[in-house]
Amino acid sequence: MEKGPECRFCKTPLHHTMVDLGMSPLCESFLVAEQMNRMEPFYPLRVYVCENCLLVQLEEYVSPEAIFNEYAYFSSFSDSWLQHAKQYTESMIERFGIGKDCFVVELASNDGYLLQYFVKKGIPVLGIEPAANVAQSAVEKGVPTLVRFFGEKLASEMRGGGQSADLVIGNNVLAQVPDLNDFMKGMAILLKPQGVITMEFPHLMKLVEENQYDTIYHEHFSYFSLVAVEKIFAYHGLTIFDVDELPTHGGSLRIYACHQDGGARTVGNRVTALKTREADAGLTRMEYYLSFGEKVKETKRKLLEYLIQVKREGKTICGYGAPGKGNTLLNYCGIRTDFIDYTVDRNPYKHGRFTPGTHIPIYPVDKIRETRPDYLLILPWNLKDEIIKQMSFIRTWGGRFIVPIPEVKIY
Ligand SMILES: [Zn+2]
Repeated sequence: MEKGPECRFCKTPLHHTMVDLGMSPLCESFLVAEQMNRMEPFYPLRVYVCENCLLVQLEEYVSPEAIFNEYAYFSSFSDSWLQHAKQYTESMIERFGIGKDCFVVELASNDGYLLQYFVKKGIPVLGIEPAANVAQSAVEKGVPTLVRFFGEKLASEMRGGGQSADLVIGNNVLAQVPDLNDFMKGMAILLKPQGVITMEFPHLMKLVEENQYDTIYHEHFSYFSLVAVEKIFAYHGLTIFDVDELPTHGGSLRIYACHQDGGARTVGNRVTALKTREADAGLTRMEYYLSFGEKVKETKRKLLEYLIQVKREGKTICGYGAPGKGNTLLNYCGIRTDFIDYTVDRNPYKHGRFTPGTHIPIYPVDKIRETRPDYLLILPWNLKDEIIKQMSFIRTWGGRFIVPIPEVKIY
């Protein structure tokens, strides 16, 4: 008998499905015209929950090398995300005294969207980023960047070369790490005795509360609650001493960690309070996870119901954005050019390409002015306020916005 999947943290066999989104292509594999008549690989998008440690996770169907060597996501195309990065930099400099004699390392540093603000203050940095195309863009901004995957091996090499970090940053990377324990070991090696790790990741409690099933995709191997992530850090000798709740990506956590023997840091009230809230919401019990699948199905039915009604009225719908999460939603709900004529994106890499699986063409944003659609379906719903403001000109011809998550809503 073939061996079933096991938990990427505690190695317990995985028996419980939290939600099954069917078969889906890799969400960043945008197609060029010549690929449209070819076979396209689809992989299961089934989320498990570990009955032992309650880590929510996908099986690793595709190697990270296949996913991340050329990546279409450039962080710097979102104004609000850049603003977030700048504020973060200022707050770290102030709170932890990060200065010119410090060394800051960001894991999965993307196009240098964040480290550029440390560079401007004269603080030594290193970005580590496996996708060569985005790393190149960081180097052009003056952010030194190593094109490598991070783990125990690279951390030991750096340490051997005399490099260790006062601040290790990982934003939206922990979810994307297939070998979680290797990555955690690497961080513990790289971090100076008194150093601080900060990591941001979408909060599982928000994902469940607000039906954010579209944030589930093959590139996100794990989905974290504070209770689960605390166990993982503790196993690797690290203490989470503070946590911020952030509005980014539909609700994220920023955790602050240090070595368990890392001096005078005490665990703050916010950590205890959030753990209590998670327990009260049910995150420490299996039933919480097992009831999510039905909620997701109902969200799909309601969205399709609305889109069908709009199309029957003879109206036109276009998409706004072609984010990874959009592709999970489009594939799971079966929304193709039968509902959406096209979508637009600010990222020129995607122009002239097609969404994976659903083959919706992607144009520059100007296309909206030319074709004057009746509805704009906002796929990056986490940026909906910014997008509704930027695109408010569609109201001059009576255009309206559809936001699909947490439930279909018209603006
Ligand atoms: Zn486990």
